[in-house]
Amino acid sequence: MRYVNKMMTFMIVTRRTTFRLYPTPSQEVKLHYWRRLHKDLYNSCLYHRKTEYQRFGNSVSYYDQQNILPEFKECWTEYKELGSQALQATVKHVDYAYARFFKGLGGYPKFKSSRHYRGWTYPGISGWKAHTTGDNGYLELSNLGQVQMRGKARTWSVPTTCTIIWKQGKWYASITVNCEPQRKTNTNAVGLDFGVYHAVACSDGTIIDNPKYLANTQQKIEQASKKLRRKRSPNFKKKIKASKRWRKSRKQVSKLQSKVANQRQDWQHKVAAQIVKSNSLVATEKLNIKAMTRKAQKGSKRKQQKTGLNRSLLDVGIGNLTSLIKYKLSECDGIFVDVPLKIAPSQTCPNCGHKKKKELSERVHNCENCNFTADRDVAASIVMLNYALRLGTSLINVDVEPLSKTIKVAVMNLGDRTTQLRFAGVKLYSNHWTNTRQYHSNFNSTAPANSTTAIGALSGCLGYKR
Ligand SMILES: [Zn+2]
Repeated sequence: MRYVNKMMTFMIVTRRTTFRLYPTPSQEVKLHYWRRLHKDLYNSCLYHRKTEYQRFGNSVSYYDQQNILPEFKECWTEYKELGSQALQATVKHVDYAYARFFKGLGGYPKFKSSRHYRGWTYPGISGWKAHTTGDNGYLELSNLGQVQMRGKARTWSVPTTCTIIWKQGKWYASITVNCEPQRKTNTNAVGLDFGVYHAVACSDGTIIDNPKYLANTQQKIEQASKKLRRKRSPNFKKKIKASKRWRKSRKQVSKLQSKVANQRQDWQHKVAAQIVKSNSLVATEKLNIKAMTRKAQKGSKRKQQKTGLNRSLLDVGIGNLTSLIKYKLSECDGIFVDVPLKIAPSQTCPNCGHKKKKELSERVHNCENCNFTADRDVAASIVMLNYALRLGTSLINVDVEPLSKTIKVAVMNLGDRTTQLRFAGVKLYSNHWTNTRQYHSNFNSTAPANSTTAIGALSGCLGYKR
């Protein structure tokens, strides 16, 4: 029997692939110059919104700023070669930052230094062209030329957007395609239990442990951060500059940190791919990671134990691992079953269904009712599998959400910021407009007496900042 979800035979999804770029020295100079230009535009848009509100109580929308871009470019001609769509994307970026703020998801948008400004996006097909079939190739940027590109996409199609990213001294192009990914799978079904002692315990008895190399790199990070603490760190209030050595060792720490992040992501993808390769039905417990990794209560005797538990849970990144399994399953029409909490897999006997509460330290399941013995986590995963199998032919019923609804976006990207910049499907008008109004009325602001001209505000900031 193969578990196939008939509802989703055709599914076009967005997949993102990140290629490493190898610009020539002169190209790199230009890329950095462009990055700084985008940074200045970002800051001036922010400045425009901020001053316009503080001085006159006006709120500036994305469209207000977008419409003055042509005029702005006449004044600052160096922006002409960047491409108008890319400039609009940067203006939109400011809008996202405000939208996040108004929804209470983030703080008030900040001015950015060029050191922390990552890059820019081409939200449409103009301004760039990818000469590739998904396996290495060249990226052509207008007014820059061809840049060598290395990387491999799992499924390739016609590219839609491109984001240029500068990270850890390296350049990347993150390209999205709308494609129909295919993946091979098998007819098996499996239950998974994510835990602390083993990263993953499968119902067939396989146990996947936490990779050792993560712990090794973690140790190196601790050593490097200790070295960093011994150097002179910057203090703005006391007007102390960071020492050269401090900057150098901070670079080392962040390099190691990104290494650990890469290793973890790599491991997660491999494990998820391996699971999906041989199973088309995966059942696992609904996890409440936030509750699971809550800090130990003050004065609790098990504080250290709890801290270690949290760390190892977060170390594996279970939440991300499950979402990887989910989207990989969706590529092969597989089914993902969320086992409800009331089933209590870790307290139930997989053989006879007898329920008994176990202590965390009890590592072996030994049923007092039927004498069934198994590893604790394996037993739990068998319970989950049994639950999923009992659903039987009713799998497309209410208990199972079709994957196409739950997961649509690839998880492989360089963080939320790049995802936010993806223009496809994003509503241009978010709630923030109405929220802005509320925000204003809360402040009881008086009617605007006067207003700076928008172009003046934008250019004024630029002239001032540079
Ligand atoms: Zn039993």
